[in-house]
Amino acid sequence: MPLPGAHVGRFAPSPTGPLHAGSLVAALGSWLDARAAGGRWLVRIEDVDGPRCVPGAAELILAQLARCGLVPDEAPWWQSARGAAYGMALQRLRDAGLAYDCGCTRREIDDRLAAAGQAPARHGERIYPGTCRSGLHGKAARAVRLLTLRGGAPVVVEWADRRLGPQCQDVTHEVGDFVLKRADGPWSYQLAVVVDDAAQGVTHVVRGEDLADNTPRQMLLQRDLGLPAPSYLHLPLVRAADGEKLSKQNGARPLELEGGAVPALQAAAVVLGLPRIGAATPAEWLAKAVPAWAGIIAAGFSTITHTKGFPR
Ligand code: GLU
Repeated sequence: MPLPGAHVGRFAPSPTGPLHAGSLVAALGSWLDARAAGGRWLVRIEDVDGPRCVPGAAELILAQLARCGLVPDEAPWWQSARGAAYGMALQRLRDAGLAYDCGCTRREIDDRLAAAGQAPARHGERIYPGTCRSGLHGKAARAVRLLTLRGGAPVVVEWADRRLGPQCQDVTHEVGDFVLKRADGPWSYQLAVVVDDAAQGVTHVVRGEDLADNTPRQMLLQRDLGLPAPSYLHLPLVRAADGEKLSKQNGARPLELEGGAVPALQAAAVVLGLPRIGAATPAEWLAKAVPAWAGIIAAGFSTITHTKGFPR
């Protein structure tokens, strides 16, 4: 277990493919942040959603990280082995009356939203209208959801990102009662990440900006489960030519490390607002980058200006 007060960071890749330029930014940012604070750095393989995972991708990611000199301080955790812990957390939420079974199909949710004159989806996700809050009404359970209406009032989460500043989200109206587990499917990312960040003693979450929108859901779950909230730093995304987040789907290629990892580290560093660092080996490059990152923190991340396109 980590010492009280110690900084514990982590990189939590989903093994849906090899590391690419975008995911290296999150890995490097979280590693630098931990090392600059004299803390520890962990890796967690988020293979909770079996069908989306690609066989061998996790091992490849770990090998790519190692080539870049990014070696976790403990053996990686695998979410596929953590079902019992997620089950206990879900039971606590049920016992507190905060989680309930939902029997609605997508179609039923869409029809209900349309009848209420509401748009069916936000970021492609439906805002659940709360139909099964009062019970399954004879339907079979299809999912377990978190109740986001508390004593008849919406849940508004206010938080401060280390780089993006004060943030606020009305979880009830902007997200709705979200899924914790599908009846015969995987645990949700939200529940798994909250349980594991706490179990691993993570104090500092550093990850891509696309996940900032999930943070209020995770903070709500932390509160409901009586877990401490880590601090959050969301990094700029590396975008593909189409302006979307760089991903396997829009042509992100696996990191090119054959010619050595320094050029890949340097490219990721530009996104993080770091200056160019001359070094012959990844270890030398990383050693020089740690004090540079401490300077970025001291400057309030103001040197992070990257917005679009991956620098060459
Ligand atoms: N597994 C998530 C992803 O690869 C990241 C989770 C996190 O950092 O909280 O997008």
